[in-house]
Amino acid sequence: MRYIDEFQDPALARRLLDDIRSTVTRPWALMEVCGGQTHTIIRHGIDQLLPDEIELIHGPGCPVCVTPLEVIDKALEIASRPEVIFCSFGDMLRVPGTGRDLFQVRSEGGDVRVVYSPLDALKVARRNPDREVVFFGIGFETTAPPNAMTVHQARKLGITNFSLLVSHVRVPPAIEAIMRSPGCRVQGFLAAGHVCSVMGTAEYPDLAARHRVPIVVTGFEPLDILEGVRRAVRQLERGEHTVENAYARAVRPEGNPAALAMLEDVFEVTDRAWRGIGVIPGSGWRLAGRYREYDAEHRFSVTGITTREPAACRSGEVLQGLIKPHECEAFGTLCTPRNPLGATMVSSEGACAAYYLYRRLELGPPQARPTAPPAQPTDPTAPLEASPVV
Ligand code: SF4
Repeated sequence: MRYIDEFQDPALARRLLDDIRSTVTRPWALMEVCGGQTHTIIRHGIDQLLPDEIELIHGPGCPVCVTPLEVIDKALEIASRPEVIFCSFGDMLRVPGTGRDLFQVRSEGGDVRVVYSPLDALKVARRNPDREVVFFGIGFETTAPPNAMTVHQARKLGITNFSLLVSHVRVPPAIEAIMRSPGCRVQGFLAAGHVCSVMGTAEYPDLAARHRVPIVVTGFEPLDILEGVRRAVRQLERGEHTVENAYARAVRPEGNPAALAMLEDVFEVTDRAWRGIGVIPGSGWRLAGRYREYDAEHRFSVTGITTREPAACRSGEVLQGLIKPHECEAFGTLCTPRNPLGATMVSSEGACAAYYLYRRLELGPPQARPTAPPAQPTDPTAPLEASPVV
């Protein structure tokens, strides 16, 4: 498949690995800030194929995982109301709030529906004028434009029984917070290509310069990740810290002007709490004042929320890259995808789920990592994941 197969080519992967190996002379720690990239890394064993000097740290790049517990609890409270039809993408239904999740609300009689687009929720609102329809709008810069467009459309069509429960987050302030956090070990970033396809790259040069970290925008296939690592390591070895776009097939420096205009119209920047991390200044979006009547928090004025995280869950440390998922004592025992304690085990993009799914179950000393296979002629049709990497 075009744009997929050629970015999973094992022979090219080995060449990139050889290049990285010949470049690296000392330890470097890089962070990917995207759950999709984390899953590619673990699925294909890319972290194990890299030289031992290079550590990949999984950052807070899973949108479901960073949605604050307080917002999940507000969703549960709103979804429980008899007049409400609560619409959400499916991956939010199993995210644990304080004591229950949206599936449980549904089992107790709540009208909770899975939709595949916020516009589907708007259709539900048109068909049910006597009910209040709420869409759970979470995520990074990637999901914010369609949610903004839906609110814009609701007002244009005069649909007044629709509202958005908003918990959108922005990547650059999170990078800033990570670099300022005590004990931060990150020396370079792989920035998420889909975020930059919306936002462009203008927010990154200042971050790279101030914190003296290379930031390489890259994609989601194995060769994208390896090329991102190659470029970041090359910069680090040379003492450079600039922004590079290694995902030019999707990212333009100016981003997507139509999406940016929609964001500018509907949302305004606000401080936002990230689950397990805390409040990061300027790291979120909320509905702008002129759209306030479409804000579910405003419409339902949910108060009296008291949140409680499971004591055993260390997802905050996972999200900050302070521990790997299998270093959590509950991993694979008390906490599994079937019985998750934290959002990082529920979400399809969560790091804990990736480690569980791809059987990264045991801790091993760095020297126990398998070394990459030698560069030699291989079957170019064999998928990279067929390599003995896990
Ligand atoms: S393994 Fe489970 S309990 Fe541990 S950090 Fe991940 S989600 Fe939380």
